[in-house]
Amino acid sequence: MIDLHTHSLFSDGELIPSELVRRLEFMGYLAVAITDHADASNLDFIIPRIIQVSDELNRSQPVKVIPGVELTHIPPKSIIPFIAKARGLGARLVLVHGESIIEPVTNGTNRAAIEGGADILAHPGLISDEDAALAAEKGVLLEISARAGHSFTNGHVAGTAKKAGAGLVLNSDAHSPDDMMTREFANKVAEGAGLPPGSLSSLLSNSSQLLKKIGYPI
Ligand SMILES: [Zn+2]
Ligand SMILES: [Zn+2]
Repeated sequence: MIDLHTHSLFSDGELIPSELVRRLEFMGYLAVAITDHADASNLDFIIPRIIQVSDELNRSQPVKVIPGVELTHIPPKSIIPFIAKARGLGARLVLVHGESIIEPVTNGTNRAAIEGGADILAHPGLISDEDAALAAEKGVLLEISARAGHSFTNGHVAGTAKKAGAGLVLNSDAHSPDDMMTREFANKVAEGAGLPPGSLSSLLSNSSQLLKKIGYPI
């Protein structure tokens, strides 16, 4: 198992990164990205610390830990420069908190994330065909979310991605231990999104290809 979207107490998650990683190691995970919520107030505070703990954990235990970030509620106009800023600070995986229907995420967030070349557009809600087509062209992966609420539109995301030829990943968006996915649960979320049985392995293969691309082969 791989999870490329999790939160630690560097934003609104419950666990310190080391416990987050240890719990996933115990569950048999191969890789996890720590992707705390960030905006202009905390980007330069959290990224170096997540890098520090990721480097340390990558030396001392088997789960590959990827220092990432989830740019969250950043006005669309500023998203593209913030993606560059996050990468400049050393984030190896950049997610953008997409237009989930359960939050007032500003219209245009999905588009800006894709245009800016985020690695993953998290929970993109009712993403349009045009945006999904651009995601396919730019290689931005669209997220199927196991998180309550964000998952309301998984069926739409899966269908729209399929039509457009965009790649999908499945992540937990875990904020606490109870949110961590067993493989069995991840399978159910994938099928619940309307994907055919057995799709989890292709979703995980998209995650592992992305890991290879960013220098964390598993
Ligand atoms: Zn989010
Ligand atoms: Zn999140």
